[in-house]
Amino acid sequence: MTTGIFIDDDETQQTVISALLAESGIDFSRIVEPTKISEIKARILELAPDIIVMDYRLDEVRKEGFDSDFRAGGLAQVLRETFLDHPEKDAPIVLLSTETNIRNLFTPDKTSHDLFDMWFLKGTVQSTNKSEKGRVFDALSGLISGYSDIKRIRDGTEPGSLVRSLLNVNEEEFSRIQSDGLKPLIVNAAGEAEATHLIARHFLSRLIRRPGILLDECSLRAKLGIAEGDTEGFKTLSEAAGFNAFLYDGIFAGGWRRYWRHRFNSWAAQTIDQPLSGMTATKRIEDLNTKFGLKLVPVVSRWSGSSDEYFAVACRVCHNPTELRHSVACFDPLIAVYMERGRICYDCVDKQDELDRIQIRIDENDEKLVDDIRSNRLKRPNE
Ligand SMILES: [Zn+2]
Repeated sequence: MTTGIFIDDDETQQTVISALLAESGIDFSRIVEPTKISEIKARILELAPDIIVMDYRLDEVRKEGFDSDFRAGGLAQVLRETFLDHPEKDAPIVLLSTETNIRNLFTPDKTSHDLFDMWFLKGTVQSTNKSEKGRVFDALSGLISGYSDIKRIRDGTEPGSLVRSLLNVNEEEFSRIQSDGLKPLIVNAAGEAEATHLIARHFLSRLIRRPGILLDECSLRAKLGIAEGDTEGFKTLSEAAGFNAFLYDGIFAGGWRRYWRHRFNSWAAQTIDQPLSGMTATKRIEDLNTKFGLKLVPVVSRWSGSSDEYFAVACRVCHNPTELRHSVACFDPLIAVYMERGRICYDCVDKQDELDRIQIRIDENDEKLVDDIRSNRLKRPNE
């Protein structure tokens, strides 16, 4: 059985949240008290958990033997360094806290994001909404299996073919994937594989969370022009067209369902008479419905209210399909050839709170456009 540890200085929270986390099937029964950083470190090395979850505030409860002078960021930093000396014990670190605490941690120090594999709101684990909770549990299991896969592949593969092995494709297919820039991130200048948590960080932030050589269902829907509410439609097309053959099964595939873009593209090129990007959603859906005998519904632009638009990507905020001409570019300092530049639909440009929360900024070249939308100078086509 996989084991996890939940660290919180509030004893009641510690017990309650550990019990809730255990519903995931991971054993969270062992306790590590947030006494002193050096003691936590020693205890974690001794217990070697498969995953570490922690609250942000570890400095509020003042008890005998508690240092109470560190928070999650400080502890995560020390643990990451410790794992460099004990690579076999390297484990995912997840932040579980309140909205305000997460903001307090990430806003002044943008690098603290890198210390955690993921963060979740405590409320999602406490929620009675099963699917919300399930999403967190899937991610925890996905992180555990991802880390264990990385360790196994890292130890048994020549650094030269590490990227290909982590992606789990053969040489011929790998030569068709645009992965330039990925290798220097996971193999250091001396030609050695980077630490497990560093490989995990790059894969999660660049390939799993952002569309590019891998696409999630929202991105596929945008490329196909299928309405966001038409989940049944996507499922029937996926079965009829055999989309399962495009599924990615490299590291982290257990927690996140992703499709290979190049496999999808070659299917589209063979199946549809012209490039999808050159057809409106109305036309794409007509074509797909005729070819597969389906009743798919085309997506409607939230901005123009029409399906006669060229949908290209899923909006990074609402995840609905959006058109290039009715969206603005995200500012993305990490952008590389294996990633697609993020877009934000005009309707989401107004949601500054949401943009702050998910830490997305708009590209400076689109600032004027943003001003025009926010000040209502830019009208919807039918307004
Ligand atoms: Zn949007």
